[in-house]
Amino acid sequence: MLKDQDRIFTNLYGMNDRSLAGAQKRGHWDGTAGILANGRDWIIEQVKASGLRGRGGAGFPTGLKWSFMPKESDGRPAYLVINADESEPATCKDREIMRHDPHTLVEGALIAGFAMGAVAAYIYIRGEYIREKEALQAAIDEAYEAGLIGRNACKSGYDFDIYLHHGAGAYICGEETALIESLEGKKGMPRMKPPFPAGAGLYGCPTTVNNVESIAVVPTILRRGPEWFASFGRPNNAGTKLMALTGHVNTPCVFEEEMSLSVREIIEKHGGGIRGGWDNLKAIIPGGASCPVLPKSALEDAIFDFDWMRENKSSFGTGCMIVMDNSVDVVKAIWRLSSFFKHESCGQCTPCREGTGWMMRVMERLVTGDAEIEEIDMLLDVTKQVEGHTICALGDAAAWPIQGLIRHFRDEIEDRIKAKQTGRVTAAYAAE
Ligand code: NAD
Ligand code: SF4
Repeated sequence: MLKDQDRIFTNLYGMNDRSLAGAQKRGHWDGTAGILANGRDWIIEQVKASGLRGRGGAGFPTGLKWSFMPKESDGRPAYLVINADESEPATCKDREIMRHDPHTLVEGALIAGFAMGAVAAYIYIRGEYIREKEALQAAIDEAYEAGLIGRNACKSGYDFDIYLHHGAGAYICGEETALIESLEGKKGMPRMKPPFPAGAGLYGCPTTVNNVESIAVVPTILRRGPEWFASFGRPNNAGTKLMALTGHVNTPCVFEEEMSLSVREIIEKHGGGIRGGWDNLKAIIPGGASCPVLPKSALEDAIFDFDWMRENKSSFGTGCMIVMDNSVDVVKAIWRLSSFFKHESCGQCTPCREGTGWMMRVMERLVTGDAEIEEIDMLLDVTKQVEGHTICALGDAAAWPIQGLIRHFRDEIEDRIKAKQTGRVTAAYAAE
């Protein structure tokens, strides 16, 4: 369990002063010029050694991603883009950073930008995050005023600007290339990858897109050392992490914890246990809508990290867990996610545009019990036609929850179809 002194985010609940003076009192912006003086390569090597993996959901190694940026300029400016378009259902961890600890992000942006040779950072913040935008802008303004960013940032000789861009509420703009398109003033539609942004990103220039938390933890990692960060969690799953619990726990919350604790410890320590006790647990969705559901039977020894979740056919995602007790109609819950993905599909590629609607409509028939038993396998087959055949990960994200449902709750789906066929219908079986 993480000790208080090991927390990176010391103002998660807004109990302290979030201004520059307050942040400095809590150790932020301490020795930043000295960190920059160690040079770009040193910073990247330290981040690599820490084992930090991207905190936006995909878990790509952060230091490795930075090392893809060109070492020498070819005349094009390089950019850091920070993805603050946090829109994953049940995920609200970056929100707390921007609301209450915004200087961790501003300082992190300066250090990360320097390490990748960027001339500026663009922070793309979710449209609905109004108060967070205000708090973050105030922190950026304070940092400019104090000479920490802007021309000759921290008296390092390095010029670095930070621009805050307010999104307009489209989930797909959280996909990194759709975000770049949107920043360029176009419709937020994902691009084909490769090229990855490091080769051709914002305005066709070398760009790295990182999640808010991935950037905000960097200054503390550099001050305390990569070994300190790597000492938390199992190998390949290093660090402390902002996580969240929503749904049927006694105390839903956002918290910082070390990686690789058990799911049960996380729920009991931070969520105050399941409503009605552990035996009342039905399932969890580990870290966002795209992560396949896991039933209680799979969770007794479950470890809450990237590798355990992948090995058990789910994913850790953002680490913001949805907890469902036995009162939940899990078929309906997954249908609800299907309708979400159908709504958010940008419609650019056929398997996603047609597939998400098709999957949602079959899911609706599973909810009402009006489907035939054979349609379960047909639906599974369609998810496999969508998965891996689309421009961006939204297609996969729409397919995986359904695959998880069929893998773990096929009996429940069959029971309701049989109930409908034999006249044991229930009014509760309605998609609404
Ligand atoms: P991804 O695995 O395709 O890429 C992750 C990152 O690694 C990207 O920045 C990508 O450019 C980089 N990358 C991957 N392979 C690379 C390579 N060969 N060379 C260079 N760079 C490479 O995943 P993604 O589509 O960026 O993200 C999907 C994840 O986003 C899902 O796991 C989901 O959990 C998460 N998500 C989060 C939110 C949120 O609000 N935080 C919202 C939607 C989705
Ligand atoms: Fe758009 Fe869906 Fe294709 Fe992604 S997978 S580009 S959201 S249509």
